[in-house]
Amino acid sequence: MSTDLAWGRRYLMCPPTHFDVSYAINPWMDVTAPVDRQLAQRQWEVLAATLRDAGADIERLDPQPGLPDLVFTANLGIVDGASFVPARMRHPERRPERVHAERWFREHGYAIRALAEDAVQEGAGDALPFGETLVAGHRARSSARAYVELGRLVDGAILPVELTDPRFYHVDIVFCPLDERSAMYVPGALAPEDARLIEQLVPDAIALSGDEAAAFCANAVVVGRTVVMPACTPRLGHELRRRGFEPVVVDVSEFLKAGGGPRCLTLALDVRLGRADAAATAERHTARNYHPLPVTITHAEGVWVRDDRGRRHLDALSAYSALNFGHRHPRLVAAAREQLERVTLTSRAFHNDQLGPFARDLAALCAKDRVLPMNTGAEAVETAIKAARRWGYEVKGVRPGRATIIVCDGNFHGRTTTIVSFSGDPLARDGYGPYGPGFRSVPFGDAQALARALREDDDIVAFLVEPVQGEAGVIVPPDGYLREVRRLCSQHGVLLIADEIQSGLGRTGRTFACDHEDVAPDVYVLGKALGGGIVALSAIVGDDDVLGVFTPGSHGSTFGGNPLACAVGRAVLELLATGEPQACAARTGARMRAGLDGAAPAALREVRSRGLWFGLDLDPAGPSARALCERLLDHGVLAKDTHEHTIRLAPPLTITDAEADHLLDRLVTALDRPRPHATASPRRRRARHPLSHRRSRPPHRRPPAR
Ligand code: PLP
Repeated sequence: MSTDLAWGRRYLMCPPTHFDVSYAINPWMDVTAPVDRQLAQRQWEVLAATLRDAGADIERLDPQPGLPDLVFTANLGIVDGASFVPARMRHPERRPERVHAERWFREHGYAIRALAEDAVQEGAGDALPFGETLVAGHRARSSARAYVELGRLVDGAILPVELTDPRFYHVDIVFCPLDERSAMYVPGALAPEDARLIEQLVPDAIALSGDEAAAFCANAVVVGRTVVMPACTPRLGHELRRRGFEPVVVDVSEFLKAGGGPRCLTLALDVRLGRADAAATAERHTARNYHPLPVTITHAEGVWVRDDRGRRHLDALSAYSALNFGHRHPRLVAAAREQLERVTLTSRAFHNDQLGPFARDLAALCAKDRVLPMNTGAEAVETAIKAARRWGYEVKGVRPGRATIIVCDGNFHGRTTTIVSFSGDPLARDGYGPYGPGFRSVPFGDAQALARALREDDDIVAFLVEPVQGEAGVIVPPDGYLREVRRLCSQHGVLLIADEIQSGLGRTGRTFACDHEDVAPDVYVLGKALGGGIVALSAIVGDDDVLGVFTPGSHGSTFGGNPLACAVGRAVLELLATGEPQACAARTGARMRAGLDGAAPAALREVRSRGLWFGLDLDPAGPSARALCERLLDHGVLAKDTHEHTIRLAPPLTITDAEADHLLDRLVTALDRPRPHATASPRRRRARHPLSHRRSRPPHRRPPAR
């Protein structure tokens, strides 16, 4: 199967509130044939929902009275990375659309690059990228001369093709890129020599018949392998499926009355013309299991990163707390450098001179006997699960094969098949069955529920819990919860396993989040920041009675405990021993919390925080968390959405007051902006988190930071 298009997952659409056929500027338009606007609205919503289902994000352009064709956003201009070249419409009726398009793109941080006033070019409707070439239509709506000028504004080759049939007045009715190798095209609507150029450009071109062309089959929107089209013949469906595409037909009959189909109704926002950049290369050659923000980081130091366009951003995510000590902390880099010069990997078949001191110091930090080092967080969680089960059989006397571990609703412990078996998040779990048995889930923060579960089952060996649920949106349990959990686990002879992979090592203002309630779990699970943002280093830490269950050969990892990671880990422990990261998290976290509470930005509905760790719940009626993270990016702040309406912030614990104030200022500015653009369909109102009532006062009456 060929590689998917590098673009086509983000679109701008304009609802058809004012759509009509009130003038005729192409052969399809008939001012005497009425438009059913309600039907148009329904068709538009189905199209938007279909694109979303296929995996696209939809941004919304506000409709404007008197501009019936504003729905056809493809014609508004050409997107090239963070630049926008507004169209110069042929017909005066459509020219006023330009101000609205320009405003939207300007407000969303795009640089506007204008074609000369006498140029004629109708945007992406007449210019579609195939690989590194922009296939550009001319004659009816765009002039060939405009492309000479466009070549000076955008990167890459432009292939002007002449449109010879007046019915097919834009290139997006005669040419449709499908993936890196294939495209649909209408040879009969192109000058013969240009049709041949398309055949040379596209290794696997599907020629459409006159009937298919007239049904606007080529005016399709391609999202990954889904082709959303206004019509499809059995032959064409077969050709598409044969190449791994799934044609999805949507009825857009009302828009066809104006000579427009799905492609005309959408303007792709994720197009970058010309030579594939690093991000596009990654999009093309990596599996799509992430959806990164559109920024490519090339350098970093402390709380700051620089991108490939030279912009500076404050990193408020810290690689999900793996960068608690900031980027390239000098002491950590020095430790790594020094170790690189000596020995990096031995395997555990031999001793190395770093593992012992690292394990000794980490055990001391946790006030435990032993450490079992691994690499990633998920491996450490797996190790804890193994330890608990084996402890259950060998120490507690649970019947063979019956050991059960209690986990919490909303948990996130990693992504192995065992771990996703007890995840409640369908995104993380679905499609990966069969799922492993041996887990039971109770509500997070509800000690009574845990007590009931413990009473009901003698085979329970452990309670696995994040002291603060990070991925769930920085959910802080009620005061006293962890203490009660500790009491219940001790009472029932069950191990308390604290997954402090994200909450530990200073993030919450104490070394461990459990410290806030003076709770010592039986097993700490650590990762992320343990490797100082340089190496993958994780571990479980516990006493002899638990970690003593492991015997040679019963568990291990080639890289676990390698000298390079342990050398960095030792330097991390030295930083923690100063107490400074923890103190910074407590002090600066309180400062930011007070600032946020005081500013009470409009888009913010609720704040949860502990130390320098924030879950910001947004107003569900406003822009999505993803959209706001993109806006924050424009303001020079890197943050990450978690769920549709929550942003989490976790800046490095080396952040200065001035940097924290800068972050707060950027954050409040981004969150305070009036809400000009919602997405295309009404968003589902997300149920509030069951624990959120304790902190759900209106922003201006929130209590001071904890
Ligand atoms: N446990 C918790 C609490 C986490 O937050 C994470 C990662 O976000 C993991 C486990 C998994 O860690 P890793 O991605 O290193 O496997």
